Amino acid sequence: MEPIKPTPVCDVRCELGEGPIWLAESSAIAWVDISQRRIHVWDPIRETHKSIATGKMVGAIAPIGQYSLVAGLADEFASVNLHSGSIRTLVPIDDPAPTNRMNDGKCDSRGRFWAGTMSMTGTIGAGALYRLDPELIVTRVLDDVTISNGLGWSPDDRAIYYIDSPTQRIDAFDFDAETGRLSNRRTIVTVDEADGMPDGMTVDIEGYLWVAFWGGGCVRRFSPKGELSMTVKLPVTQVTSCTFGGDDLGDLYITTAAYRLPASDISSQPQAGKLFACRPGVAGLPPRAFAG
Ligand code: CA
Repeated sequence: MEPIKPTPVCDVRCELGEGPIWLAESSAIAWVDISQRRIHVWDPIRETHKSIATGKMVGAIAPIGQYSLVAGLADEFASVNLHSGSIRTLVPIDDPAPTNRMNDGKCDSRGRFWAGTMSMTGTIGAGALYRLDPELIVTRVLDDVTISNGLGWSPDDRAIYYIDSPTQRIDAFDFDAETGRLSNRRTIVTVDEADGMPDGMTVDIEGYLWVAFWGGGCVRRFSPKGELSMTVKLPVTQVTSCTFGGDDLGDLYITTAAYRLPASDISSQPQAGKLFACRPGVAGLPPRAFAG
């Protein structure tokens, strides 16, 4: 079988591209540049791009209806108007560590937005995972997190997958969709440091996980039991996250970063920071919106 080769989607080159999300109602892909404090939106049919300055570092986004996004900004949850670019605080995060910032996030089946924090000084265990309910109540769901990253749910909604990157693990919990509670944490994949660090992820309709590997130059597909089923290689090393999009949810969009790329790698990776896409032959689950 021919290897699947992702190609750049547009000319936008992020410093720290992350958090891609398919905006089904406008048939566009949105993603963030955390360190450059921008949200990018690309319409692959019309081939149009727009970007919104967020002021603060932006870790993750999810749709609210057709015209707005919920965003995890440095120290708050906010709403972003996609037309005007205006930003409004929804709830500040009362995080005990001032050097923490919001990082990866995603919505569950009930329209809650889950997003975690990471320590910008690398302090082990200083971060947390939060859940923003549609009523704008914030719950601290997990403590002792270092770099909160990939999130995803099984198609039957009974499991949540979670990556705290420096643990080099992909973990699963039992998920109670009614209450949003997590239990029974277990590890399904342990990653060798030579393969990079597990970062963002998505889940496909067969229940398999697609995980981006920071420093590993690839996205890997794993069964729910943790068996490796496929590797999609990229021409850049810092691969950050992925999601399915397109009207048939068959396009896999992959974000990458040029951030802190060793000087020796900058000239050999001219596409670092670009958004890539490929069609791996399986579709994703429909993207979820914030119900607030
Ligand atoms: Ca990340």
